[in-house]
Amino acid sequence: MTVKDILILPDKRLRQVSKPVAKVDASIKKLVEDMFETMYEAPGIGLAAIQIGEPRRVVTMDLAKKEGEKQPQVFINPEIVDESDEVSVHEEGCLSIPEYYEEVERPAVVTVKYLDLDGKTQEVKATGLLATCIQHEIDHLNGVLFIDHISKLKRDRVVKKFTKAAKQATKDGKAKERD
Ligand SMILES: [Zn+2]
Repeated sequence: MTVKDILILPDKRLRQVSKPVAKVDASIKKLVEDMFETMYEAPGIGLAAIQIGEPRRVVTMDLAKKEGEKQPQVFINPEIVDESDEVSVHEEGCLSIPEYYEEVERPAVVTVKYLDLDGKTQEVKATGLLATCIQHEIDHLNGVLFIDHISKLKRDRVVKKFTKAAKQATKDGKAKERD
């Protein structure tokens, strides 16, 4: 297992639409292992494959409380097949937009169809944190970030901040190469 680098805003790859997994084979199992390793190391509760630069429709998640047993969950080719009219608001964050949190409104209940690691079709009716998290991760597979759900003013501000930080990091990197 390998801890991978997580892509950070404004990395353009985060806007890519990920491809469906045709077969849950050894390469997908390896990808899932790396994703868990990277997610737990971060630490985070959810990760989409594109966040480590793999444009495949694969999501890992663990919503267990910090002190509790691990509860790893894998969703391959997840798809929302039903959603409630009722909405709920949760504060969200993202490993690709570190240390930025904002409230996002989404359907409170979603039914999600997906493949498990054995390639079997599963369905889950997600509520609460799972509903929020799975919608956030499915967004990633479609090149959508949670900041797309907030006001343009707030979004522009955070994109500007991260763009400036990325430019500064590149500059610092180049300065280091010269030294
Ligand atoms: Zn995210």
